[in-house]
Amino acid sequence: MAMTPTALPTALIVEDEPEIAELVKFHLQRTGIDASITRSGRRALELARHSPPNLMVLDLMLPDLNGLEVCRRLKENDATKSIPVVMLTASGSEEDIIAGLEMGADDYVTKPFSPRVLMARLQNAMRKRGVSATQPADILTRLDGKLVIDRQRHVVTCLGAGISLTITEFEMLLTLAQRVGFVRTRKQIIAAVHGPLTMLSPRTIDVHMTAIRRKLGAVGAALETVRGVGYRFSEDGLE
Ligand code: CA
Repeated sequence: MAMTPTALPTALIVEDEPEIAELVKFHLQRTGIDASITRSGRRALELARHSPPNLMVLDLMLPDLNGLEVCRRLKENDATKSIPVVMLTASGSEEDIIAGLEMGADDYVTKPFSPRVLMARLQNAMRKRGVSATQPADILTRLDGKLVIDRQRHVVTCLGAGISLTITEFEMLLTLAQRVGFVRTRKQIIAAVHGPLTMLSPRTIDVHMTAIRRKLGAVGAALETVRGVGYRFSEDGLE
């Protein structure tokens, strides 16, 4: 398999089950993405270093190198660490999902998946990476202006009214709202809010989350619990 230079966005599918790999490739190519397949984790790392794709779809159960290990090595190499990674996981592998997200994977799709869900996740991952590559703005506007976060002045406006959050609550909300649609584990939230030496526990994160939701009123529904994994800021499903 060769990755030739092209003007099209490129995706590397790392998956040893041919039917799944071909299915993913088919749907990516239909949307104008130049997708190629490898079944080897080691080969994926070589290819990514040689010619970084715009997206990696990474199965976690590979014959040679575990997908989590592939992700870890990608993220510790400067040449490959900014490649968006979406993991393919077996259902019920919450520990793997959490480990992958904490290693820097952007998202995951559980097998069996619907092509629509798969493509939405993949396109989201690529789009968000593009957005996050730009300079972060001081003022984050979400939900068509229903929520405005001014990170310079530490002020949150919800449905036009200023609301009062503690510093921890503010940082938690900001952490989630900065990456709309992406799940953050409790550990990631703690690290983002207070750094690795925090005394916050996963349990206190839940308590703070309850308080934030209450203060945000109807907008609080944007803070979704992802069962067994963590939290996500979602712009879907809010009127
Ligand atoms: Ca597999």
